[in-house]
Amino acid sequence: MSAAIPTQFAETPGRRAAAEIIATLRNAGHIAYLAGGCVRDELLGRVPQDYDVATDATPPVLTKLFRKTSEVGASFGVVLVKVHGVVTEVATFRADGTYTDKRRPDEVRFSTPEDDAARRDFTVNALFLDPADTSAGPHGRIIDFVGGLADLEKRVLRAVGDPEARLAEDHLRALRAVRLSAKLGFEIDGATRAAITRHARDLAGVSRERIGDEVRAMMSHPSRTGAVTTLDELELDAPVLREPHQTSPPRTLARLRPEASFGACLSAWALDRGLDVGTTDAHLLVSRWRIALCLSNDERTSLSNILQTIPTIERAWTDLGTAARKRLASASVFSDALDLVSVRNSGHADRVLDDVEVLRATTSGLSPRPLISGDDLIGLGLSPGPGFKVLLDALYDAQLEDRIASREAALALALELAGSRGV
Ligand code: ATP
Ligand code: MG
Repeated sequence: MSAAIPTQFAETPGRRAAAEIIATLRNAGHIAYLAGGCVRDELLGRVPQDYDVATDATPPVLTKLFRKTSEVGASFGVVLVKVHGVVTEVATFRADGTYTDKRRPDEVRFSTPEDDAARRDFTVNALFLDPADTSAGPHGRIIDFVGGLADLEKRVLRAVGDPEARLAEDHLRALRAVRLSAKLGFEIDGATRAAITRHARDLAGVSRERIGDEVRAMMSHPSRTGAVTTLDELELDAPVLREPHQTSPPRTLARLRPEASFGACLSAWALDRGLDVGTTDAHLLVSRWRIALCLSNDERTSLSNILQTIPTIERAWTDLGTAARKRLASASVFSDALDLVSVRNSGHADRVLDDVEVLRATTSGLSPRPLISGDDLIGLGLSPGPGFKVLLDALYDAQLEDRIASREAALALALELAGSRGV
């Protein structure tokens, strides 16, 4: 089935690069289409994240035709082509073979556009756009072998072919269904949902890394609340987080800013699942989620620090002195933690914010550059050692509390403190 393209598209560098690659391939006598998610997004009037090209040219032909290529996935028929600084995935039409490891097909066979549509996950992801065929409209012609246009119209995410078989051969598709349905605002078709429930609840065979990537992608989009709700409905929260299944309305998550950090989103999700912050449960959760979602060190640290900072803001802020408050308020996770506190207790968060503004307006401000360094202490004739850090911290506290305001005053205080502490 084919149809005219009904919408305009965004003239992005990615779009221009893909169009140029397609033109080059056509001039060399090949078939070449825009394929997959980018076609879906253009038809929905969204700007695609990336543009993929599908063609009948094989990897050796592609590497000859284009100057800058890299064959990272050449054995699967994928070549990366760089034009004007933009990298585009160019894939040879293929029919995927069986999936014994549920991740990658055992073999790929270069094939027809129709087979290539049939191997894709959802019908709306299996559309092609031929920009060169202007017979149906100025922007090209849509080629639809699987009923994707009708599903796009109905806003339904439906597995291509037999949902049972498609969900059984690659469990990651269950998470893709959740993420894409949330992001696009589509319903998951009944039979596809049933197949997820029957086959994909254990996410067998999917690496923690790929699970983590899907969760990262879910959380990076403002539709994250919908994604978490669907994960719970389909009982996918259990295999994703390696925790018992529970249904937890994402109240905290729903109130985060759209651009909230991944660490803030994970923390909100943990709170919505009933985590009692300030207990050892938080440490256990961080260790569990680090493995379950294959978190990077930075992500783990951010999650852990946010979860630790929430109870500090909630329970200790009132008793903290000026220097301690300033140190806390200038910590990188403070604003994420305060956002979460504000969801839990907006009155307290407002008072903390007022306090921070008062601290910001002090002579030294919230996080001034230290007046002196360890080198200055050595310059004073002090010998480096464990006492240095304690001394520098005490000097910085004095600066934060506006007890000293110049280098000279800091040096004088350094000598005084060093004398009294024997540094
Ligand atoms: P996004 O907007 O997140 O990029 P997308 O649908 O473009 O969504 P990609 O991961 O970029 O997702 O994949 C591009 C295309 O490759 C998909 O549209 C789909 O046709 C196909 N695809 C990706 N992952 C799978 C999978 N696990 N099984 C089958 N087809 C897949
Ligand atoms: Mg994509």
